[in-house]
Amino acid sequence: MYSWRRRLPRMSTRSFVAFVFFFSLSSSCLYFIYVAPGIANTYLFMVQAQGMMLRDNVRTIRHMIRLYTNKNSTVNGTDYPDGSNSSEYVAQPTAFLPENFTYAVNLPCPEKLPSMKGWNHVNMTEIFMEDIMLQFSKHTDIEEAGHWKPKDCKARWKVAILIPFRNRHEHLPILLHHLIPMLQRQRLQFAFYVVEQTGTHPFNRAMLFNVGFKEAMKDLDWDCFVFHDVDHIPENDRNYYGCGQMPRHFAAKLDKYMYILPYNEFFGGVSGLTAEQFQKINGFPNAFWGWGGEDDDLWNRVHYAGFNVTRPEGEIGKYKSIPHHHRGEVQFLGRYKLLRYSKERQYLDGLNNLHYTPEITLTRLYKNISVNLSPELAPVTDY
Ligand code: UDP
Ligand code: MN
Repeated sequence: MYSWRRRLPRMSTRSFVAFVFFFSLSSSCLYFIYVAPGIANTYLFMVQAQGMMLRDNVRTIRHMIRLYTNKNSTVNGTDYPDGSNSSEYVAQPTAFLPENFTYAVNLPCPEKLPSMKGWNHVNMTEIFMEDIMLQFSKHTDIEEAGHWKPKDCKARWKVAILIPFRNRHEHLPILLHHLIPMLQRQRLQFAFYVVEQTGTHPFNRAMLFNVGFKEAMKDLDWDCFVFHDVDHIPENDRNYYGCGQMPRHFAAKLDKYMYILPYNEFFGGVSGLTAEQFQKINGFPNAFWGWGGEDDDLWNRVHYAGFNVTRPEGEIGKYKSIPHHHRGEVQFLGRYKLLRYSKERQYLDGLNNLHYTPEITLTRLYKNISVNLSPELAPVTDY
């Protein structure tokens, strides 16, 4: 009888088995990267980070040797080793106001308040939303939808916190539990908008932010927007959630990336723009369905509009991610192509071509905006 194995006359059984083994191993790896991009990304970066830390150490040692051997070198900014972590070396001492500072009702609240101690106790224990609501309902100054403003001075910024959301119910109470006291210590005026995607399309974080922006602007003339992942908890209350002259990337150092900025253009996790800046860049792109790319496109938009991005210094930009068992979203494989045309697409796709019908529910601590997203809601003309 003719066996198909005879068609591969020069392949021994052992090499055949090895081939099958490596083929299945690489296909499983690729499949894993596709379905669980968040986890794959974290592991990949951990390997990369080890290399970066090793390089940094070697550079610091070389630099110290040079300092000891060369008497002419000066200890100024340009002398420090460059690299993604160099901000630690040049961090300026920050002057926070003294405890006895007195506020004035008709003056803007300062940015560096004595109530901001430089740490935020992070507790990831799962809690019920009802318990959190009950806890904060004692604070009678927190109005519906989590709206709060300071009484002893005029809030410097009116900040709308937008949270993209689908099926992460255990994360939301943990986030609010940490953010509310922190924002109160920062004496900002704020409210929370949870923008929830319904329907069966892949998750679209960017489009949810656009919806949130438009809805929030109907409520109040917010002057600052913070785009906040539900699973990111700030570790330092000096990470001031106000806006500035330039768009800001708050989540500079994530525990899941070993507190190293994964790449200079990284703009994910938590970012903030004034309403004016966000309108000027035409918001987020609507065309990123699934995991990845939308934050890089926002980075491009910001720069094409002539802005730079600022980040908190040193320890201040640290965040912990809530560990979770969700598989997350599948990778958006079309992102590389879209990113090549960021510039061409910027004013064709964004705030200006988006139409949607929201369902709104008010709760004690946030406004829930549910919206069934699909690509037809944001048609793009050819470019
Ligand atoms: N998200 C969500 N449900 C999902 C996927 C994403 O609510 O099924 C939101 C959530 O706010 C999350 C953010 O989108 O923090 C970013 O997604 P994810 O955490 O999966 O990305 P990663 O942190 O792995 O880059
Ligand atoms: Mn996440």
